[in-house]
Amino acid sequence: MYGAVIHAPGDVRYEERPDPTIEQPTDAVIRMVATCVCGSDLWTYRGLNPIKRPLHMGHEYVGIVEEIGADVQTLAPGDFVIGSFMASDGTCEICRAGYPSRCVNVVPMGMLGAQAERLRVPWADGTLVATPGEPDAELIPSLLAASDVLGTGWFAAEAAAVEPGKTVVVVGDGAVGLLGVLAAKARGAERIVAMSRHADRQQLAQRFGATDIVTERGDEGVARIKDLTNGLGAHSVIEAVGTQESMLQAIRSTRPGGHVGFVGVSHGVSLPGDLLFSSEVHLFGGPAPVRRDLPDLIDRIWHREIDPGLVFDLTLPLSEVAEGYRAMDERRAIKTLLMP
Ligand SMILES: [Zn+2]
Repeated sequence: MYGAVIHAPGDVRYEERPDPTIEQPTDAVIRMVATCVCGSDLWTYRGLNPIKRPLHMGHEYVGIVEEIGADVQTLAPGDFVIGSFMASDGTCEICRAGYPSRCVNVVPMGMLGAQAERLRVPWADGTLVATPGEPDAELIPSLLAASDVLGTGWFAAEAAAVEPGKTVVVVGDGAVGLLGVLAAKARGAERIVAMSRHADRQQLAQRFGATDIVTERGDEGVARIKDLTNGLGAHSVIEAVGTQESMLQAIRSTRPGGHVGFVGVSHGVSLPGDLLFSSEVHLFGGPAPVRRDLPDLIDRIWHREIDPGLVFDLTLPLSEVAEGYRAMDERRAIKTLLMP
């Protein structure tokens, strides 16, 4: 089969890779229906992650089950499935407490490489969820979004304790930030401020429920948020970037007693203790427990209550995966969907 392999920063190739097979009785092998490029893949693409190359790429996927191991109980060949970007056993104490992306037996799907024609999924019962039937083609982008970016935005809104009546700020206008807006709206936020400088992303944020747009950053960005909140800061802030600048933006935009939900994969973030002490905010975040929320998210998509697939503004054949990365790296695309 063919799939994406990164050889050096900026050098993603579509090349032959070994066909996946059942290695453990808890595995499934799926045939890819759609996969995509993640904002977090760009860290690797830009050479900012210390990894050994060549490396298989991709961790978001929807597909059809082709084969299951002897111990897989909840799935059958032919099922249309969505899985989390982290494979989890679903049975350990951490999974049962609701944090499957930190399962004691976790397998990051990026290690296996979902930007490919086929994929082995470890812990199939604990990782994959089957849809109620074969989805309409128009639902596939939204179901694919549930594999990571929707689930991550959803968790960010929960971590930021978004509730009816609250004012929410979203730092970051990538797919996760935009779906954080969608999640905040779904949780009943009264006011949703999207921090974005890009007209196309501002429009999508508004479509998802943003009531205000702030283009300023840093001190000016904080001042604008204070202006909008009687000088207090927001109740809830979603951080969806993962840099020092964005974390400080998020913490400084939150009122005392408020909540920051941080889901941007952290790169070089180091928080000053004096700022943390004086801010008096709740900080919670990390890799989203997507598998926990998948049944609920699939149900909302299935009943067309939410349309997170709108974040895909470029669709390419999987064989053009390199262009998919380039378009996102150059910010010509918010998110690239790839079809085998
Ligand atoms: Zn577990």
